[in-house]
Amino acid sequence: MGAKITRRDFLNGVALTAGAAIVPSFFLPEMWSVAAADLPSEDQDVAGYYPPGKTGLRGSHPGSFETMHKVRDGGFWDDAPKAVDTGESYDLVIVGGGISGLAAAHFFRKAAGDKARVLILENHDDFGGHAKRNEFAAGSRTILGFGGTFSIESPAPYSAVAKVLIEELGIDVPSYPKYVSKDLYRSLGLKPRIFFDKETFGTDKLVLNAAHTGSDESGINDEAAEAGLQEFLKEAPLSAKAREDFQRLRTEKKDYFPGLSSGEKKARLARMSYANYLTDTVGVSDEIVKLLQAFPHPLFGVGIDAVAAQDAWGLGLPGFNGLKLDPSPGKGMNRDCIRNDEADKYFFHFPDGNASIARLLVRNLIPSSIPGSSATDVVLAKADYSKLDEPSSSTRIRLNSTVVKVNHRGDPASAKEVEVSYFTEKKLKTVRAANCILACWHVVIPYIAQELPDPQKEALASAQKVPLLYTNVLIRNWSAFQKLGASAMYAPGMYHTSVNLDIPVSIGGYECTKKPDEPIMVHMMKAVCKPGRPAREQHKLGRIQLYSTTFETYERNIREQLLRMLGPGGFDPARDILEITVNRWPHGYAYEYNSLFDQFWLDGSETPCQVARKPFGRLAIANADADAYAYTDCAIDQAYRSVQELKKN
Ligand SMILES: Cc1cc2nc3c(=O)[nH]c(=O)nc-3n(C[C@H](O)[C@H](O)[C@H](O)COP(=O)(O)OP(=O)(O)OC[C@H]3O[C@@H](n4cnc5c(N)ncnc54)[C@H](O)[C@@H]3O)c2cc1C
Repeated sequence: MGAKITRRDFLNGVALTAGAAIVPSFFLPEMWSVAAADLPSEDQDVAGYYPPGKTGLRGSHPGSFETMHKVRDGGFWDDAPKAVDTGESYDLVIVGGGISGLAAAHFFRKAAGDKARVLILENHDDFGGHAKRNEFAAGSRTILGFGGTFSIESPAPYSAVAKVLIEELGIDVPSYPKYVSKDLYRSLGLKPRIFFDKETFGTDKLVLNAAHTGSDESGINDEAAEAGLQEFLKEAPLSAKAREDFQRLRTEKKDYFPGLSSGEKKARLARMSYANYLTDTVGVSDEIVKLLQAFPHPLFGVGIDAVAAQDAWGLGLPGFNGLKLDPSPGKGMNRDCIRNDEADKYFFHFPDGNASIARLLVRNLIPSSIPGSSATDVVLAKADYSKLDEPSSSTRIRLNSTVVKVNHRGDPASAKEVEVSYFTEKKLKTVRAANCILACWHVVIPYIAQELPDPQKEALASAQKVPLLYTNVLIRNWSAFQKLGASAMYAPGMYHTSVNLDIPVSIGGYECTKKPDEPIMVHMMKAVCKPGRPAREQHKLGRIQLYSTTFETYERNIREQLLRMLGPGGFDPARDILEITVNRWPHGYAYEYNSLFDQFWLDGSETPCQVARKPFGRLAIANADADAYAYTDCAIDQAYRSVQELKKN
């Protein structure tokens, strides 16, 4: 595992050790013994209120979304209680306590002064949005996990505005190598592997993932890569034709579009899916498509059926050697697929992911809520949630509060105030503010800010979020990983398509696990897609599936999958699983434009997010959705822009 493990690196390589897996055909009844800890929302002022310590179903947890769904379905206002005026008045109310909302509070205070009164309303029981901290107790030891946003990274160079904020928070990005034990797993003989499953490939088998076999920083050198490829070809349970196809994909130098210029070829590739390119143009067998299908899940939440061939080329996927494409990005390329070495250097992972950024922002806004003074001591600092919403504090964060309506008091063109209504503990309450920033998901905004012009509401509604599961499983030890020689597993046919040992980072007094007989966090990722349909439709259907799946079903799938993958290494789910936290994100990544489905992205015409983020009266609009780019620097940039727009009021 190299020093930089970006979201791209989570694309568990394509080129591809074997260890035949004989999976027991029975499950022990005790396997299902870990219960969901779906604790009811409590009052954030009550002693002991500590959401990071909750396990079970997290992410968009029960209690966080029901109100908004009722608003969406039209039933909320029919039986809504009479609104109670809190009498509170603010300079700024922010809807959404994710990184964008917290950064907006930071920028507003910088502009308006520390005494400016700011209220952040958040529908979840914790702040941070996708940047969610998961804490586990393993005996006397605290083990941290990231429930969502896992690192400081961006495929495009990190924005100047966001870099300044990261520095102001005290995060020294270039110092990252001193915290990560980058050679730990490799020194113990562990390598990335691919798990072939019986249903898809005829047998359960763990095989070397040959893209990650070398010893240089990127994990690949020519000799090791070639040896890895040969090992893969020998061991992978693929037909002779599929092996031949795989080898051909990597080595063949055929021009499939003779006579076309590089630009014309790219224009074609931008309009065909990579899956279609592989089958119809290159002529590889379906087995290869199945093998590569889940490769883009960590990046886009869809498979290669919904990723343009041009983007696949940008990501370095095989099959383009003979096309002699000009290396510059083609029209309509996704920003994630444009290689940028400068961007790759700016990487930092805290054990709780970017929840540390959220916590540093909160500490700046409300110093009494989180002890400490540095970007490293924040890792172990325990937040005091009772301090988040104190009347004496100029900035307040109110959790478990779903904003259901935002409207100007009078004509939006001249009104001096907005009224914000929110639902909490079965009560409808109102506050007033001179300004309001909507830093929540864009799909929500048309329901709560009905004054907005119809074209803007339509543009906001098109921001379909990408549904994802980020599952953290605390296990007793990782000796099974060691026996199987696996540090990370890509499993294209399984429920979770990746299973990775935690990134070994020790920082601020927090020590990562270094010995295989110690407990460790295993991260599993699932993208919920419906291959063959347009991306937005896949996301919509996936979202419904995530909301309607019970924790018990998630748990059963996790246990079954870990038994099949790790059982041959001696793993026993009943004995070895200590805790499970399923971070469910039906509203996950911001939807990024896709040349297969979004003509405007190819044309270079105005994008929906440009229409969606226009200010309106005393309202400004932030969130990563506002630039259709699922990264923290985007969430920060959009917060900054929204504050600049308010300053013009
Ligand atoms: C699983 C996952 C992994 C990711 N990994 C990375 C990564 O490694 N690096 C990276 O740069 N980016 C990553 N991202 C992208 C991530 O979305 C952004 O980096 C950033 O955290 C987004 O912040 P945000 O404030 O714009 O949105 P969010 O974090 O979604 O915050 C918006 C908040 O508004 C709240 N809200 C919505 N409606 C209402 C309402 N009616 N009332 C009150 N509150 C409301 C939401 O509940 C949410 O808490 C990841 C995203 C996901 C889902």
